[in-house]
Amino acid sequence: MLDPKAIVTIDGPSGAGKSTISRGLAAKLNFTYLDTGAMYRAVGLALEKQGLDLADTTALEKCLDTIELSLLPNGDDDVLVRLNGEDVSQAIRTPEMGLVASRVSAHPLVREKLTALQRQIGERGGIVAEGRDMGTVVFPKAACKFFLTASGEERARRRQAQLAEKGQTVGLQEILDQISKRDYDDSRRQLAPLKPAVDAIIVDSSSMGPEAIIDCMLASIAKAVC
Ligand code: C5P
Repeated sequence: MLDPKAIVTIDGPSGAGKSTISRGLAAKLNFTYLDTGAMYRAVGLALEKQGLDLADTTALEKCLDTIELSLLPNGDDDVLVRLNGEDVSQAIRTPEMGLVASRVSAHPLVREKLTALQRQIGERGGIVAEGRDMGTVVFPKAACKFFLTASGEERARRRQAQLAEKGQTVGLQEILDQISKRDYDDSRRQLAPLKPAVDAIIVDSSSMGPEAIIDCMLASIAKAVC
C-alpha cells in the first residue's frame, strides 16, 4: 500500500499528457494534484503585467515578495489559479504564456520562491506533483517518480486539441515550434533542467491512452512499495 502521505512525481516535456495523467492518477490514489507549471505561468503573468526587467534583481525580489498564489481544484479537469486574489486560470493557459513561463522559470529568484512554495505544499503529503524538476530537485525523496514523454508530433497534436477545447485555434506547426523551443530551453537551463531523475520510470505515451498509462503507473507504484 502506498503511504497516504507519499509524494508521486511526474515530470516530462510540454504536451506529453502530464496534466491529464497526473490528475487521473491523483484521483485514483485519492491524492491532491499539484500543477507546478501553472505556478510558473502565474508568476510569468505577474512579472509581465508589471513590465519587470528580469535583470533588475532588486525590483524582481520586491515583486516576488508581493505575489500570492493559490491553486484549487476546479471541477474534474481544471485548476483554479488565483494570483493576488484574481482568477487567472484562463489567462495563463495560452501558448504565449507557456513561453513567458519558460523564460522566467530559468531565473534563480523565481525558482527559489516556487521551489519553497511547492515543498511547503508537499509537507502534508498525499500529492501527485507535475512539472519539470519534481523528481530531480523539489521532491528528490518522492516514493515514486515518473518521466512521461511522447514524440514531438504527438505532443503538438495533443496540445492543439487541448487549446481547441478552450476555444483557441492554433496551427500545428506553430505549436510544434513553440514546444520545441520550450523543451530546448527547459532542458538546457542551468538550474533544475528538464531531465528524468536517475530513479524515474520512463513512460512513453505516444501510442497509449490515458487510462492505460495510469494503469501502468499504478502497477509500478504497487511494485515499488509492496
Ligand atoms: O507545464 P507547463 O507547460 O504549464 O509549464 C510551463 C513552463 O513552466 C515550462 O515550459 C517550464 O519552463 C516551467 N516549469 C518549470 N518547472 C516546473 C514546471 C514548469 O520550469 N516544475
